[in-house]
Amino acid sequence: MFQRSQVKSAVCEVASPFERVQKQIDAICERMNIDQGIQARLRECERELVVNFPVRMDDGKVKIFTGFRIQHNDTRGPAKGGIRYHPDVTLDETRALAVWMTLKAAVVDIPYGGAKGGVICDPKIMSPGELERLTRRYTSEISILIGPEKDVPAPDVGTNPQVMAWIMDTYSMHKGYSVPGVVTGKPLEIGGSKGRFEATGRGCMFSARLAADHLGMELKEATVAVQGFGNVGSEVAKFLSKEGCRIVAVSDVYGGVYNPKGLDINGLLTRDASFARLGLLARNKETGLVIGSEDAETITNAELLELQCDILVPAAVEDQICKINASNIKAKLIIEGANGPTTAEADEILSDKGVTVIPDVLASTGGVIVSYFEWVQSMQSFFWDEADVNDKLQRRMTNAFEEVMSISQHEKVDMRTAAYMLAIGRIARAMALRGIYP
Ligand code: NAD
Repeated sequence: MFQRSQVKSAVCEVASPFERVQKQIDAICERMNIDQGIQARLRECERELVVNFPVRMDDGKVKIFTGFRIQHNDTRGPAKGGIRYHPDVTLDETRALAVWMTLKAAVVDIPYGGAKGGVICDPKIMSPGELERLTRRYTSEISILIGPEKDVPAPDVGTNPQVMAWIMDTYSMHKGYSVPGVVTGKPLEIGGSKGRFEATGRGCMFSARLAADHLGMELKEATVAVQGFGNVGSEVAKFLSKEGCRIVAVSDVYGGVYNPKGLDINGLLTRDASFARLGLLARNKETGLVIGSEDAETITNAELLELQCDILVPAAVEDQICKINASNIKAKLIIEGANGPTTAEADEILSDKGVTVIPDVLASTGGVIVSYFEWVQSMQSFFWDEADVNDKLQRRMTNAFEEVMSISQHEKVDMRTAAYMLAIGRIARAMALRGIYP
């Protein structure tokens, strides 16, 4: 199955993300001599729910929305993964995102499996009331799958702490008592964790630090381009800017801004904060968050990826770097904040060019790590201070990075292959121990 890349201005024509991840699983299982039965189970998702449900819109009409919740594998613990609200959500994409969650949890060795959910909708053009009604009905529809011990959603593209609060409230109303452990990424006031909102961006910064160290690259004064200025992208830009990097370009779905002297990230964040932290999904409908925000050249998302810079952080959606634009990438280091931003063909081109890619399943695990901390805190009703959360996050990410780097050096493979080997080895051992029921 082929589909158009989601960036309007990009040129990528790509195979299905799920087929891509299945091929990667096959290649790693064959390389590691993984049992055929385990390989066959790993390349499919365990449970898939498709829901078509009604929402009353502000004009009084009823609209039918389609949503998904998919659990890929729960051998190592409850299934865990975000919920995406985006017009381009598909069943195929949701399956791939669920697999990547299983791999991420295993790379950083937290006791979770992988899941993902999504609703085909455009939150940019929906009112807060419509979004709340959509969220509450979708939650009811998928409530046969989710729960603190079985499947725990979190924010992803187009959803935020406010959406998580509605999910938590709806699930709790069904149960008749408050169940904060049913979602992570909740607001602090209802059992969220300190440091969760920033976690994925902070984790990308830790990855950039560790990778720069290995490459002998100075982060201070390194130039950075960030695609996607939502939760992940805006936090990465903020943290890398604090490290002394010069953020020369950022973008959102409408396009980007470029200033080779560096952008004022704090100025841009003030605008973003009102969207993300207050839980309002409505934005400037003509230009988005970044265009027109300061004296900088306007660029497309495709142009941003090919800019002259030291570090590129794709933090929007999948399949942005493909065989058509990979050879034009000028960055020496790519930190994958988004899930699946680089195709397999692009990986090969980048590797031949000597570009180091820190893959999604390692670089963007900060969110799921602190989600795990939030879930533990929610279940115990005992909350940690932020320094504790950040310190534990850094330790987990550093350990995982060093383990992946060591496999990469020992096996002479790129960091993505090494991370998949680490993850699949852990999941396969757990599956072998549990066996097949009955
Ligand atoms: P978000 O909704 O907060 O931000 C997404 C950003 O990408 C926005 O700026 C949006 O305008 C932009 N965007 C959306 N569609 C685009 C397109 N077609 N082209 C270019 N830009 C586009 O979402 P987020 O939570 O920051 O997630 C971004 C990426 O990071 C996704 O791939 C997500 O799966 C991944 N991720 C998120 C988390 C998390 O904790 N939120 C954790 C790990 C990975």
